[in-house]
Amino acid sequence: MKVIERSVIGCKKCNLCNYRKNAVPGKGKHNAEILFIGEAPGKNEDINGKPFVGAAGKKLDQALENSGLTRNDVYITNIVKCRPPKNRIPNNEEKHMCSDYLKSEISIIKPKIICLMGNTAYYSILGGKEISKNHGKLIYEKNYTYFITFHPAAIIYNQKLKKIFNDDIKKLVNVLKKLNKKHKY
Ligand code: URA
Ligand code: SF4
Repeated sequence: MKVIERSVIGCKKCNLCNYRKNAVPGKGKHNAEILFIGEAPGKNEDINGKPFVGAAGKKLDQALENSGLTRNDVYITNIVKCRPPKNRIPNNEEKHMCSDYLKSEISIIKPKIICLMGNTAYYSILGGKEISKNHGKLIYEKNYTYFITFHPAAIIYNQKLKKIFNDDIKKLVNVLKKLNKKHKY
């Protein structure tokens, strides 16, 4: 994992390297059972070199705590590791150039569930659309189990979505508990 982190920090594979202050590798437990994938670093992440340390990160932390977990129990990363100018959505070339890092993170961690947060992650990994219709779903594909939910930035000013997001994360943790029980016998 250290090797990946170092490669990300020095990466110049796509043009986003020209705008960043810091590249942002994933962070968390290296044998986590849940791996969360967001979109791209924002302003705070770019300054700190760490994922989800701004307002969206706070919402994610709260949802995790609500479900009895902390950040140290999970691994959190993004589709692209450098901040796009003005937080625009990363384009296909940027996502493609950055995808090997995510693949390596997944293959090292071997999570039991990969949680895709928001449309960019859902579309990039599974070609899915319309989070509002598909959130809370489990999808079994390419040897992995995926769970779909909103991006925590989307819930910041929306109390209704906040509850839905928190309920989704609870559901995710319960699904994991059930999976673990099944595999014991
Ligand atoms: N939004 C993301 O998608 N990722 C971060 O790391 C922060 C905000
Ligand atoms: Fe490299 Fe990814 Fe950053 Fe592009 S976004 S420079 S591919 S780490």
